[in-house]
Amino acid sequence: MTATIDISIKKTDHSRLAETDFNSLQFGRTFSDHMFMADYADGEWKNFQIVPYAEISLSPASSSLHYGQAFFEGLKAFKQADGKAAIFRIDKNAERFNKSAERLCMPELPEEIFIKSIATLVDIDRDWVPSKPNHSLYIRPYMFATEAFLGVTPSTTYKYIVLTCPVGPYFTKPLRVKIETNYTRAAEGGYGYAKAAGNYGGAMLPARKAMQEGFDQLIWTDAKEHKYVEEMGAANAMFLLDGKLITPATDKNTILKGVTRDTILTLARDMGYTVEERPVAIAELIAGAENGKLTDAFGAGTAFTIAPIASLYYKDEEYFLTDPETREFSKKMLKTLNDIRYGLAPDPHNWNYIV
Ligand SMILES: *Cc1c(COP(=O)(O)O)cnc(C)c1O
Repeated sequence: MTATIDISIKKTDHSRLAETDFNSLQFGRTFSDHMFMADYADGEWKNFQIVPYAEISLSPASSSLHYGQAFFEGLKAFKQADGKAAIFRIDKNAERFNKSAERLCMPELPEEIFIKSIATLVDIDRDWVPSKPNHSLYIRPYMFATEAFLGVTPSTTYKYIVLTCPVGPYFTKPLRVKIETNYTRAAEGGYGYAKAAGNYGGAMLPARKAMQEGFDQLIWTDAKEHKYVEEMGAANAMFLLDGKLITPATDKNTILKGVTRDTILTLARDMGYTVEERPVAIAELIAGAENGKLTDAFGAGTAFTIAPIASLYYKDEEYFLTDPETREFSKKMLKTLNDIRYGLAPDPHNWNYIV
């Protein structure tokens, strides 16, 4: 398809940069000056534009508001040691964007449009990429149905938008995590592997209940037996058990195939660890918490990065794991990952897309 696209660019005449406090960023509340937009109609993508971040108008009958044809991606750009911005593994997000689109019966977005839209936006708002440690520019591409039609059929028109937000660390303390064995996030044959808006709406009530009970996050379990862990709200779950890195397999299509997950599994293999992608039983984690063989546990995702799990709550019992401050594996992994992303170490897998 289209190898190059022409993007019309209208810059803001009032940048909000000077009035933005980069010392107190709340995730997803501060938006950079510009956004990218494109429309899909008559079977093709068009109207590529970068405009000042602003409200948009929409038909109240837009089908995404009724039937949930909507999904998103999340990736980050990092300020490198030499001042350039590096977008981490953009090709993986482009690929997953289209997997979500396909599952929701929405049009494919050619990868070169995905990459060019984001690279051009990051270039224009490059001063919004924070230079503070552990900070980055979170990039949120998304697509939704816009046809003004209440019939339950796929829309014929869509919008693709990219927003960006400067962000700091998502969590500031290790997480108390509840293993959820009542509610289900995704079942085999469903669309748990898609970053579909509906997956997150359906997760909010169980997550709020867990928070009211004093927990920070949930770990979802399989829909059939609630015996195997799946993943967290917006992060994959990883464990160091008996010296091996184990994480739930994604072959049942119920789990989001995280880019951070893939990154950590790759780095762990590079470091010589045994990596197992397989069903992970709650029972073996609890046994490992009791006999001390579970030496590390964390959530891995673009927004969370590596979020240490302090404790696992299961069947009226809270199991405290090893002190996160003493965990060698996740600390080493976080440093290795950050050194690549911030350009402080070589990038042997070519993960950085430099802008
Ligand atoms: C986004 C997300 C992840 C993490 O994926 P990354 O590509 O690493 O950001 C994991 N689980 C769910 C449910 C998610 O939405």
